[in-house]
Amino acid sequence: MNERFAERMSDPEVQSDTKTLGDFTRIYCNAHHRDRVRQPLESDAATLGVYGRRQLVLCAECAGHLRYGEKRLAYCPKDPKPFCSYCDSHCYSAEEAAWQRQMMRYSGPRSALHGYAIAGIRHALVGRAARKEHEARMRADSASSENGTDG
Ligand SMILES: [Zn+2]
Repeated sequence: MNERFAERMSDPEVQSDTKTLGDFTRIYCNAHHRDRVRQPLESDAATLGVYGRRQLVLCAECAGHLRYGEKRLAYCPKDPKPFCSYCDSHCYSAEEAAWQRQMMRYSGPRSALHGYAIAGIRHALVGRAARKEHEARMRADSASSENGTDG
C-alpha cells in the first residue's frame, strides 16, 4: 500500500464512501454468489480497518471489483471528491462502471433492509443533492451563454 492511499483513506468522506461501497458489494455478493468460494476480503482498505471489525466475505470476482473501487475512491483527483455518479471524470473503466451500476441498482434499495439504513439514506440524499447541483450547473451553463449576468 502506498502512503497516498492511506492518507486519502483517512479522509472521512472517502472512508465513508468506501465503506458504503463495501456494504453494497457484500449485499450483492450475498444475494448472487452464495454458491461460490467466498473469503474474507483482503485489500488495502480492509487492512486499514475502513470496513470496521466485521469482515467482508466476498467471492473473488466481487473482491476484485471492490479493490478496484477502493483505488478509484482513494486516488480521486478531485478534492473534495464529488459524488461519483455525477462526476464528469469517468475514472472507472467502462467495464467496471457497468458492473458497479448493476451492483448499486441491486444493493442500493436493499441497503436499508440490511441495517445499513444510515449509509443508504446518506447515499440517497447526497445523490439527490449532487443531481440538483449538476442540473443547476447545466442550467447556469446554458443561461450564461444566452444572456450575460449583471450581478
Ligand atoms: Zn460475489
